[in-house]
Amino acid sequence: MSKIVILGAGISGHVAAAHLRRKLSKDHEVVVVSPNSNYQWIPSNIWVGIGRMKSEKILFPLAPLYKKKGIGYKQAKAISFFPEGDKKEEKPYVLAEYVTGNNKGQQEKVTYDYLINATGPKLNFEATEGLIPGKNKTYSVCTYTHADHAWEGLNEVIQQMKSGKKIKILIGTGHAKSTCQGAAFEYILNVEQELRRHNVRDMAEVTWISNEYKLGDFGMDGMLLSYGSMTMKSHEMVEMIFEDRDIKWVLGAGVNKVIDGIAYYENLEGEHKAETYDFAMLIPSFSGHGFKAYDKNENNITKKLFKGFMIVDADYTPKPYEEWSVKDWPETYQNPSYKNIFAPGIAFAPPHAISKPRVSKNGTAISPAPPRTGMPSGITAKLVADNIIDSIKSGKKSLNHKGSMGNMGAACIASAGYGMTKGSGVSITTYPIVPDYEKYPKTQGRQLGKTFGEIGLAGHWLKLALHYAFIYKAKMRPFWWLIPE
Ligand SMILES: Cc1cc2nc3c(=O)[nH]c(=O)nc-3n(C[C@H](O)[C@H](O)[C@H](O)COP(=O)(O)OP(=O)(O)OC[C@H]3O[C@@H](n4cnc5c(N)ncnc54)[C@H](O)[C@@H]3O)c2cc1C
Repeated sequence: MSKIVILGAGISGHVAAAHLRRKLSKDHEVVVVSPNSNYQWIPSNIWVGIGRMKSEKILFPLAPLYKKKGIGYKQAKAISFFPEGDKKEEKPYVLAEYVTGNNKGQQEKVTYDYLINATGPKLNFEATEGLIPGKNKTYSVCTYTHADHAWEGLNEVIQQMKSGKKIKILIGTGHAKSTCQGAAFEYILNVEQELRRHNVRDMAEVTWISNEYKLGDFGMDGMLLSYGSMTMKSHEMVEMIFEDRDIKWVLGAGVNKVIDGIAYYENLEGEHKAETYDFAMLIPSFSGHGFKAYDKNENNITKKLFKGFMIVDADYTPKPYEEWSVKDWPETYQNPSYKNIFAPGIAFAPPHAISKPRVSKNGTAISPAPPRTGMPSGITAKLVADNIIDSIKSGKKSLNHKGSMGNMGAACIASAGYGMTKGSGVSITTYPIVPDYEKYPKTQGRQLGKTFGEIGLAGHWLKLALHYAFIYKAKMRPFWWLIPE
């Protein structure tokens, strides 16, 4: 009998738990340890943040589902890792602390045979002074509670505009090294559309602020796209969209401090500037959770497991940008020191950024960290689960399932507006996520045809369809596994 412990019940942890439970007999134990009582479909937070979808629609409680499916569940947070056990406990374990109920504050050694760390990112608001969701007129849409607050804030300024006040809206990244430009891009398009719906568009100045060097970088170094029968650079497409919608932009900006209504930033020229606003949604930087790890004798071995995020089978040798290769990216998400530990989704440490790193004239690094979108999070979780399943079933270690972000695609479907006929969408699909300059030397490392941009209602429908399909899948309704990751 094997016991598989999964930390985190986000896209990656939940996908891993579902596949493990479906494919392994009940002799084997599958246990999820996660602090949030709910599963949330994060991409739909965008619609919660414009007041067009209630947060209840994008979440459901985990405990009843896990009980029904025979998945163990501890509403607790992992604190530290003991991959060799300790002086008293023979088995490897994770020290977890309960976050609710009678056990709140109690710690437990959760032992395992296999461990999947799917804890995603820490939303590192603290890295930017004053950037606190719901305070200083800045908001976030990274969780459903943040998105609820964002709608409250946005609604307030919409009401002010209705009573005649001119308003400034600022949306983008809230740190020099933030990622998730795609989510902010989607939000700005939705907000802009909402202002029109409320007949207050002429009362608002809408500005995009970002650490990107060029528009449409998205932390993926931009891309050359097929657009209808043309090819187009992603910055040209996003410029066209922003110009069409009268959205201003500030680029190469590392926001470093926020006070009530003012975002301070440094730009690549080394200038210190500020943007004023009445409502801002700024994505924080992401970091690892700061977990510690100890060996059997309780010596600190954190460096064997973590490099911010978790160390996996990537090539972490520091190299100049010109020598970065798609081959540096991991394929099995297995920790090299402890082969029964895996980290799919956002939890693994990337070998390097994807966008060209840039530094301001003062030496401040200002460029996007690599994006880690939902599709690769699901795919990597499934492949990790499949390797564990094969190993358990065959009785010998198996790593036959592989997948790198150098052979996976990402779809940024930025719906703009909500409703079956009123919405429109901007879809940008990229393949592969990490450019492969050997395979696709003439098209900036990407395969044209599989890397394309589209504007129109179809993208919006697709986003809505994905919302329903993925919530159906996450609820493990009949034949859920037929829906791909
Ligand atoms: C607003 C927004 C919109 C997005 N839109 C899209 C989109 O349209 N398409 C797309 O592909 N991607 C999108 N993304 C990205 C996508 O949401 C992420 O790639 C995905 O959620 C990552 O999955 P994950 O499981 O690795 O991490 P998460 O989903 O962040 O899950 C991490 C889990 O770990 C848990 N956890 C945290 N700390 C601990 C701890 N100490 N112990 C145990 N558990 C812990 C958390 O509670 C959570 O359950 C969007 C992201 C945002 C913020």
